[in-house]
Amino acid sequence: MQKPRCLTSLSLSELEDCLKTIGEPAYRARQVFKWVYKLGRTNFSEFTDLPRGLRQRLSEEFIINPLKVQQTISSRDGTTKYLFELDDGYFIETVMIPSGQRKTICVSTQVGCKFHCAFCASGLNGFKRNLTVGEIVSQVLTLKYQFGHEITNLVFMGMGEPLDNLENLLKAIRILNDEQGLSFGARRMTISTAGVIPGIKKLKDFELQINLSISIHSPMDKKRSELMPINKKYPLPELIAVAEEYLKSGGRQLTLEYIVIKKLNDSLYEAEGLAAIARKLKAKVNLIAYSPVPALPYERPTAEEMSRFQKWLEERKVKVTVRKSKGVDIAAACGQLAGKFQ
Ligand code: SF4
Repeated sequence: MQKPRCLTSLSLSELEDCLKTIGEPAYRARQVFKWVYKLGRTNFSEFTDLPRGLRQRLSEEFIINPLKVQQTISSRDGTTKYLFELDDGYFIETVMIPSGQRKTICVSTQVGCKFHCAFCASGLNGFKRNLTVGEIVSQVLTLKYQFGHEITNLVFMGMGEPLDNLENLLKAIRILNDEQGLSFGARRMTISTAGVIPGIKKLKDFELQINLSISIHSPMDKKRSELMPINKKYPLPELIAVAEEYLKSGGRQLTLEYIVIKKLNDSLYEAEGLAAIARKLKAKVNLIAYSPVPALPYERPTAEEMSRFQKWLEERKVKVTVRKSKGVDIAAACGQLAGKFQ
């Protein structure tokens, strides 16, 4: 018997085609989408406007949600981490981060990561595989319907490098954005990348106006290569040039992410370099205080050190936001929880 397919991996038109092959009209696919995306149901027996025979057939051929909730951990500040087990036994994590009226979901795109940034927990166990479209989409559906979060923003930044799984990611984004799907606004979605140049070039042609955020972490090429080995393949000067091209493609906003690590990348010299890049790209800088990972030697800056770095940037006319540290008490760094289980 064939393994059931994951329904949330299919676009509406693919589901229409599937249903046509078994003699069902196209509108059945819209009915299925309504139950899954508008009403959050995961059991075909509840799809009461479908004939009983079709419900039975769908339940034999498809699964709706491929994620098993393994653990949830909530921080004192309201941040909650969800650990999911995949059908091949791997683990991923998805994080809900509340901030005022906002509820941002940080979505994973890969199991592990190939890029081995020196400070990151996700790369510690190496790369296992890309997530499927359905596994990406289902993280959002599960947090919305099973855990009842009124999600305002999505950021593809959890475990993995989103642009290294670009095809599946873009399809997932289209499904989440589809009016018949979750109808989630493109402008409330952000892809965060360590600087995969071919992926940024392809994003230029993507039809939806999603936001892009690029991790810099040091404006000095040599130090950036030590912190982020991807810089050897896609060096900073080339990355900046491609980001400029991306901006010229119209109406797009860019954010530069900068994880501040104590005594490593928090000098005035680095603030000056970062400010120069930000001004060139007309980008906002988002500073994040490093969340320590037990196996790694890096330290978190103090609040004073963070403010000093922020002030240096602001004095150089750069718009800066500081991401409030969230979930420090629940293994905040991405991949830390899943890494324990992997
Ligand atoms: S920071 Fe991002 S790109 Fe770097 S190892 Fe971690 S998950 Fe991969």
